Amino acid sequence: MSSYQLNIEEILANIMEIGAHTVGLQFPEGLKMYATSVARQIEEETGANVIISGDPCYGACDVSDTAMKGLVDLLIHFGHTPLPLEYDVPVLFLEAEFQLDVTPSVIKALNLLKDYKKIGLVTTAQHLHLIDEITGILKENGKEVIMKEGRGTQKAQVLGCNFSSIENLSVDAFLFLGSGNFHPLGIKLSTDKPVIIADPYHNEARNIHEFTDRMMRIRFAKITKAREGERFGIIVSSKKGQYRMELAQSLKDTIEAEGKQAFIIFMNQITPELLVPYRDLDAFVVTACPRIAIDDANIYDKPLLTPEELLIVLDKKEWGDYVMDEIRYED
Ligand code: SF4
Repeated sequence: MSSYQLNIEEILANIMEIGAHTVGLQFPEGLKMYATSVARQIEEETGANVIISGDPCYGACDVSDTAMKGLVDLLIHFGHTPLPLEYDVPVLFLEAEFQLDVTPSVIKALNLLKDYKKIGLVTTAQHLHLIDEITGILKENGKEVIMKEGRGTQKAQVLGCNFSSIENLSVDAFLFLGSGNFHPLGIKLSTDKPVIIADPYHNEARNIHEFTDRMMRIRFAKITKAREGERFGIIVSSKKGQYRMELAQSLKDTIEAEGKQAFIIFMNQITPELLVPYRDLDAFVVTACPRIAIDDANIYDKPLLTPEELLIVLDKKEWGDYVMDEIRYED
């Protein structure tokens, strides 16, 4: 099945084991093209009826258990590892392992890591199965590899909202395996250590520092603009793993204590179109997925801030203490 490996046998065994009559399937955007073939295989081999979730899904923060409660006996959520949340129906999390050759990009990354001995290895869920292979390459090249589990994440795994697996790691530099800049940016800002990306999709290696400088200039501009604001929207997500109403309430109190106005807006999807009716607000604070304010900044005409950035806007924190927003489920 293309370059993703889905463990269909595990699915079939689970369905048989619990005797599920109706099974829900939920795929992240990049895997939705496999939905109908998986559904067909399940229906043919188990006799169960399958319902596919058609809503957008970007993480394990957004499991459709509540929406499918009463509809399905088992929900299979693909492509993400579970978060420490309670679900309304039995959920089987099935990682989708991306099959790719990591060696060339890791070899290139070694050039950029030549001055460092102790390397913190970090990646995302779809590459966790490659960790041993990369560790082998690093060790063969004289490196010491350091990894640990995080709160709600596996060894070496980070999420865009959870960098706990790299907290207090004693390393000289980090090697991130994957594509995109958001996770390496989070590692850089959380640790202030050199972060090298081995990107097997583009067969390249790069240092995150230039991107970090560019992104920080953009964030500084957003914060500066938001300082002029008098009326703030505080967005709370109805997605179970992104829901932070308590935080939103405390931010509202903080804003109002400064003599400004704040309004809590509760929503499931966050898009520029859905914020159009709130033209009278000067800036938004996003307590939902931390990626929204950073990754999507340029599609919104008003500043979108993380909760951490709001504290800088209100002079409760220094710009020099900038950190990424993280969702802490134990809070
Ligand atoms: S909140 Fe955002 S970064 Fe965290 S798991 Fe969900 S989609 Fe990923």
